[in-house]
This record gives sequence, C-alpha cells and structure tokens, in this order.
Amino acid sequence: MSETNPKLRAELEGIPTYKPGKPAAAGGPAAYKLSSNENPYPPLPGVLESVTAAAESFNRYPDMACTGLMNELSDRFGVPLSHLATGTGSVGVAQQLIQATAGPGDEVVYAWRSFEAYPIITQISGATSVRVPLTPGDVHDLDAMADAITDRTRLVFVCNPNNPTGTVVRRAELERFLDRVPADCLVVLDEAYREFIRDPEVPDGVELYRERPNVCVLRTFSKAYGLAGLRVGFAIAHEPVAAALRKTAVPFGVSQLAQEAAIASLRAEDELLGRVGSLVCERTRVVDALRAQGWTVPESQANFVWLRLGERTVDFAAACEQAGVVVRPFAGEGVRVTVGEAEANDIFLKVTEAFH
Ligand code: PMP
Repeated sequence: MSETNPKLRAELEGIPTYKPGKPAAAGGPAAYKLSSNENPYPPLPGVLESVTAAAESFNRYPDMACTGLMNELSDRFGVPLSHLATGTGSVGVAQQLIQATAGPGDEVVYAWRSFEAYPIITQISGATSVRVPLTPGDVHDLDAMADAITDRTRLVFVCNPNNPTGTVVRRAELERFLDRVPADCLVVLDEAYREFIRDPEVPDGVELYRERPNVCVLRTFSKAYGLAGLRVGFAIAHEPVAAALRKTAVPFGVSQLAQEAAIASLRAEDELLGRVGSLVCERTRVVDALRAQGWTVPESQANFVWLRLGERTVDFAAACEQAGVVVRPFAGEGVRVTVGEAEANDIFLKVTEAFH
C-alpha cells in the first residue's frame, strides 16, 4: 500500500475492479451496446413522468426507508415488510449481505464462472472466495458446491439463471442442494434475470424462501424493468437477515427518482413483461440461428447468450465491434452477448456466421 495512504487496508490492494460494459462509441462503428445485459427498450412514458415529477424535489434527500416501494413490494410478493430490504441495485444489496455475514476467516461459496461481483465483494469484506467450477455444460455443479461448504462458510451464492452462461438450476436439484446446506449457512438465490425464465422446472426463489429460513432472494429493477441507470434492487429474506440488510444499507442509497420509477414500473408490470416476452422471442431466434450455423450454445434463460470461443474470444469481440455491436469478452473463454434490438442481434449473427 502506498506510503501516503498508510491506513488503507492492505488487503484492498489487488482487488479487481469492475469492468463496465464498453459503451457503444458515438460516431464509431459500434452503434449497439450488447455488453451489459441491459433492456434495449426506452423508459415507458408513465415511468418517465414519475421520475420527472420526483426530479422537482431532488434538493431533498430521498425517503431513507423507501416506504412506498417497500409497501408495493410487500403487496406484490405477499411478504411482510420486515422481510424486505432495498438497496443501490441488487449488487449493492449483495455487498450488504456479505458485509453483514462474512469477514476475515469466513468463506463465501459460489460457482465459477458466474457474476463478476461475487469475488470482488467477497474480497472487499476480507472473507475468502471458494469457487466451484461449472460443469462442462456450463451449469452449476450443486453437488460439488454442497461438498465445498465447511463450518467457515457463511454464504453461498446461486445465480439462477447464471451470468454469463444463462443456464439454470431446476427445482429437484436445487431442493436436494438446499437439504444439504446447514441451517446456519445463508443461501442467496440471485434472480436478477428471473423474469426471462421460460423453463417451468425452474423454481421461483420466493417460494423457496417461504419454505426455508436460510434462503434469501435477490431481485433487481435493472433488467426486465429497464431501470439499470437508476440503481434499485431488493432482497426478500427472513427477519434477521432482512434486518441486517437494512442496517448495512448506505443511507439514502436509493434516490427518490429510483423509488418512484420502481413503483411506477411495478404498476406497469404487464406492459414491461410484454416487452420481456418479445426479448424472449428474440432470444429463441438468436439461439436457433446460432445452432443452425453450427455453434454449440447453452440453453439461455436470461437476456443474453454465451458463446464459447476460447483463444478466439478477443478477436471475435473486435470483429463484432467493427461490425457495429459491442459484446462482452471474457478473454480465453468466450463472449456474453445481450439479446437486444432485432437489428443489433442481426449484426451479431452476421459476425458469427462469418466467424464459424
Ligand atoms: N446479479 C446478477 C447475476 C447480475 O448479472 C447483475 C447485473 N449485471 C446484478 C446482480 C446486479 O444488477 P443491479 O446491481 O443493476 O441490480
């Protein structure tokens, strides 16, 4: 650690920083951003109106308790207020969860590859990451994850669907896994892409939370609801966990604009879920086209697809950019490509055709 900052925690050095999805360069060849799993639809007029109205008082702090939003969520999911916590995006809530549960000497178990925030927020807390490789089919290996749990394990993340592979764990295997997890170990079901699931065998995490005190569900308004830029996510968890999350929240971490937009989005859910339906159709079209071109693509239940490219990954991403779409490369592994506008998906499919 630098001499001029003698009091910074030494272990913060070496923590990887987030790699934000590269923007589509203005005026450059890459007009479409398919690198951050965003929703390509612009805000609904009614949602925009609620944000505009809230903007009139942004000289004031927001409602720290997110009262209106908490009430809406409580009604929508049929859970008591004491079982809810909101945060600055679901990544903010995940960071609070680790902060509340794990520190030096503790372990956090998750599949790998998975959401890039898990290693970062674990390391920030001083806890140790235990990464369990995905199966060769890019699915969570829940048996191996259960085997990896020790008496030092505080948290297990199950990302369902998994980012970046889009794969899911189904009810029977998830129930079997949960039966093996000790009662004092918290299982976090990260369901950021829940609304894009069409596989009827995938359980709703909220149902599992109702049956099991050590299950916590993370959801976000960033994907299906299209509010990525406003930063609002939430957790549904039993009383002690939800209370700890409310305690560790950054004060005023969810702006009034975000709160109002989230409330308006819940009220416009039918329309927003209609858009999700269109994106799911596009997903099917993209996956079918890739398979017809001869690619092996895992079954995605999210708003993105995963293409294994190994050593060709970086070149492929550069070719996409040249053609007009920005994708997310994981060097040496593959690319994750958001399902976006049909025109953007078509550009991507032209590159895959040429590359195969
Ligand atoms: N979980 C997963 C699996 C994600 O992919 C993301 C976003 N990339 C998040 C959580 C966080 O989303 P947000 O903080 O915008 O709610």
